[in-house]
Parts: sequence; C-alpha cells; structure tokens
Amino acid sequence: MQIPSDLEIARGARLEPLSNIAERMGIAPHLLEPYGESVMKIRLQAAEELADRPRARYVVVTAVTPTPLGEGKTTTTVGLGDGLNRTGRRTTLALRQPSMGPVFGIKGGAAGGGYSQVVPMETLNLHLTGDIHAVTAAHNLLAAMIDNHLYQGNELELDPHSITWRRVLDINDRALRNIVTGLGSRTDGVPRQTGFDITAASEVMALLSLATSTRDLRARLGRIIVGDNRSGKPVTAEQLGAAGSMAALLRDAIKPNLLQTLENTPVLVHTGPFGNIATGNSSVAADLVGLRGSDYLVTEAGFGADMGAERFFNIKCRVSGQAPDAAVLVATVRALKTHSGRFKVVAGRPLPEEMLAESPDDVRAGADNLRKQIENCRMHGVSPVVAINKFPTDHPSELEEIRAIAAEAGARSAVCTNVVDGGAGAEELANTVAEAAEEATDFALLYPEEASLREKVEAVARNVYGADGVEYSALAEKQLESCERNGLGNLPVCIAKTHLSISADPKLRGAPTGWTLPVREVRASAGAGFVYLICGTMNTMPGLSSKPAAFDIDVDDNGQITGLS
Ligand code: ADP
Ligand code: MG
Repeated sequence: MQIPSDLEIARGARLEPLSNIAERMGIAPHLLEPYGESVMKIRLQAAEELADRPRARYVVVTAVTPTPLGEGKTTTTVGLGDGLNRTGRRTTLALRQPSMGPVFGIKGGAAGGGYSQVVPMETLNLHLTGDIHAVTAAHNLLAAMIDNHLYQGNELELDPHSITWRRVLDINDRALRNIVTGLGSRTDGVPRQTGFDITAASEVMALLSLATSTRDLRARLGRIIVGDNRSGKPVTAEQLGAAGSMAALLRDAIKPNLLQTLENTPVLVHTGPFGNIATGNSSVAADLVGLRGSDYLVTEAGFGADMGAERFFNIKCRVSGQAPDAAVLVATVRALKTHSGRFKVVAGRPLPEEMLAESPDDVRAGADNLRKQIENCRMHGVSPVVAINKFPTDHPSELEEIRAIAAEAGARSAVCTNVVDGGAGAEELANTVAEAAEEATDFALLYPEEASLREKVEAVARNVYGADGVEYSALAEKQLESCERNGLGNLPVCIAKTHLSISADPKLRGAPTGWTLPVREVRASAGAGFVYLICGTMNTMPGLSSKPAAFDIDVDDNGQITGLS
C-alpha cells in the first residue's frame, strides 16, 4: 500500500495544545517554558516536584545490529508509545534530538516515519529550541579560551601538541576535519593544527546528556580535560576559567523539550550524543522527568543492543540510578536476511531484487545476530520483547520465522505495522511489552565501578561482543595507564567500535566469534564521566555524499519547508 510522504503525513497532524499534554503528565504551568506553539521546555524542578508520584515503568528500545537499510527503532518507539496510550497506559517517549548533519546528509530527518512520527517534524529536525547550537557555542568558547591562554603567555604550561579539544559544528563538512588556526600576524594567535568535529561528537553534548542537575552540569564542565601540561598532568576547563561561562550558555539547553507524536503522545526530545564515541542515548534529565509523568517511559538507545543498549545499561542507568523494567529489540526481515551474509546491501540503494523473494530460510540464516542481541539484554537482567517491524515487502512466513527464532530463545515477540497503521498497528506490541514490564526484573550492571579499566573493557568485549580477548596498541597501553594514574580508573568505559557489526570489523555479519578487539587509542571524557576506547577508525566529522539530502530541501513562498524526508 502506498502511503503519503512523511512530510505530507506530518503536515496533516492535529496537534493538541502542549499545555493539555503537560497537564496529563501532571506538570504544572509554572514548570513550562513555551517556545512558540508546538514546543515547550520543561524546567528541571519538575522531576523534584513530581517526586512523590509513582515511578513509570522504564522501557528501552534497541535493535539487532543495524544494516544500511534502517531497522526502525525510532518508528517502533513512537508506535509503541502510541500503542501503549491507545491501550490505556499513560506513556511518554524520550528521544534524541536529530543532528543536522544527517538531516542534510545521507539519512534525512529522524522523527520516525509514516504514521509514527514526532511533530512538527521540520522544527524537530532543524533548530528545535537551539540546544545543539548552545552546545556548539559552549564547546567553541572553551576552544577560544584555550587558544587565548596560549596567546596570553600560557601560564598553565599547556603543551600545545597535547591539546585534544577541537572545535565543533552541526554540519557535515569534511573540509574542516584538519585545519591550522592562528595564521596571520603575531597578534592573530599562536598557530597550531586542529580541526572540527560534528557537534553530536562534542564532549559537551555527551555530558549534557548525562547531567542530573544544573549543579552536576557545572561540575562536569569543570572536569573536562583539554590536554596536558609540560609535566604530563591534565589541564581542565575549570583551570582555564571556562566552565562557568559554558554552564551559562547551557542554562536552557539542560531543560528537556516537549513535543508530541501524530497521536498526541508526549515526547521529550533532548540531547543527541554520538553513538560511537559517546552513549548514543537521549538525556538522563528528560528520563528523570518522564519517569514521574506517566505510567510508562519508553526511550530509544542508538544502534544495536551491543552499542546503545550496553551504554544505556552500564553508563546511563549507572548515572541515573534508574533500572529498566523491559527492553524492546527491533528486528526486521530485511536485517536478518542481511545478517545471513547472502546479500550485498548498499546504503542509499534499493534492496537487491533477490532479497524480496519469499525465503524464511534466508531469515533463519541471519538469526545468530538476533540471538546474541537477546542475550546481550538478558545478561543485564532484562528479558527483551522482539518487535518485528513489518515492511510492505515482507512475507507472512518470514515474519513467522522471526517469531519462531525469538520463541526458541525464550523471548516474547510481536509484529508491528505502526508505520502504515499508526498506534493501532502496535497494540499487540504494547500489550506484550506491558506484560514483560510487569514481571520483576533483576537489573545488573555488567561490571562494578571498582574494576580496573582493563577488566571493564574485557567484560564488554568478551560478554557483549563475543570476542576472545582484547589487544592494546603501545599508545593505548600508555594512555590507559595515564587514565588510571590520573584517578579516572573508576569511570565506566565506552567502546568506540563500528556499529555495523557486533565485532570490530564492519564487514562481519551475524554474531562473529574467534576474534580479538583491537584498541588503538584511549581517551578520557572526564566531564562526561567515561573513558572511551577507539577500536578501528572513527570519523567524528562526516562528509556530504555526491547527492546529499540538501539538494532536495527547499522553502516555498509561504515559508513552508519542502523536500525534508
Ligand atoms: P532507526 O531509528 O533504527 O535508525 P528509523 O525508525 O529512523 O530507524 O527508520 C529508518 C527509516 O526506515 C525511516 O525512513 C523510516 O521511515 C523507515 N521505516 C521504518 N520502519 C518502516 C516500515 N515498517 N515500513 C516502511 N518504512 C519504514
Ligand atoms: Mg533512530
């Protein structure tokens, strides 16, 4: 069945006044800050003022390992929220704010799709309330203060070659990956090589997503390490005198944004940290509000269960002290067929013709990935519901095959058709998730804070990724020791590997075994509160393709945006 474009569907939305939606969440008017008619910010005191209300059941949506086709975590999250509301359970969603890099780059918007969308999608996908720009400004203020410190005599003896703090911009721009600053005359600064990352990759974004209060935000900003002094000791944003001003710039950005779905389910959209070098999860602050404002809070974790969900459990929940009641694992026929290794799938190209033929056998051939990701949720004490996101080209026998694979693994499952049918297409999923969430869970972090950084990496690599072990480069060994020496050994780890495989090799499908995790570099995100380990090549400033989405986007004479998908 042909459905209208996402933008056409979004245009037809009947928005409910947000004050009504907030009222249903129990959030009083004095806690709301309207930004126009269709977005409001919620003051952080909301979490405290609602503290005596019962806590919502907490549900995280994750997926099998992503393929270039898109599995539909956001659409399923939105559909599940609408489905839970339709079945009488007051539900709030918590999602990341999309970066403008992908919006104008390869992926298009990230507000869901079809009849499962967050609206207004133009507002969501472009500037929203300016939070991303505030992060950009705070990040670049620190960069300017570093260069000014060098120019003004470098009292802290910051070693210019050790500076890891770059600049950021929320646009895909490969030409800025490597730059030289401070060219010109003596009064134009001290020349040095640096570069730009996309704002989503900023440590400021990472720490904003984990901050539990304004005080905590301020403290985290102060702990940011920008480089070393001449005796190898870390130099922080606090020492540079930048942290207070950065916090001032982020005063409003720490407040979650309230929007709604096409079916008027409340959606908290807040922060958008990178999924590789950061958590890939929306903010703790939004969840702390949402958990008091409804019966269910459903949040999406980026990439597959080995990535976003692992960080949800071991970083986000560790910070917030909240334990999940259920997990949803999105799987598709096309993803499992891709994980069979029998097809060549390329991003941006149509599905190969052979993949459309009815073949439950090809689905089963990719089952290892689903089984491993089910296990990855279970090892944290949460038994996932497999959400089978139905595409129009799927055959009933293939959907049935995924149900059978889930059942053999002892997991509940439900087929959802919400992209075409809206929340009505996710009622079975909603009932199944509610059943799972009502059962007692035994949430467990994978490693204690006191374990050494090496033990933590080992725990994730062996248990979650299925690796035989971990191998460190000489540089990584040195950096790991320096982290421990500088008192960062008690932090959780965020492993920056490819999201396209459970292994560190993006070409390997399924659930690879018999491999070793290669750690190339170790970096401290002391402000965000984790140590990240770079395994393979990480691109933190994407480029644009030969046909970027920017070619199609325009604005008509009435100021309406066109071509956004
Ligand atoms: P993720 O959050 O996992 O990256 P999204 O929910 O953003 O994935 O979906 C990726 C793309 O696939 C979107 O363009 C979405 O509209 C489309 N999509 C998702 N599910 C379906 C479906 N069941 N039928 C058709 N298109 C879908
Ligand atoms: Mg998504």
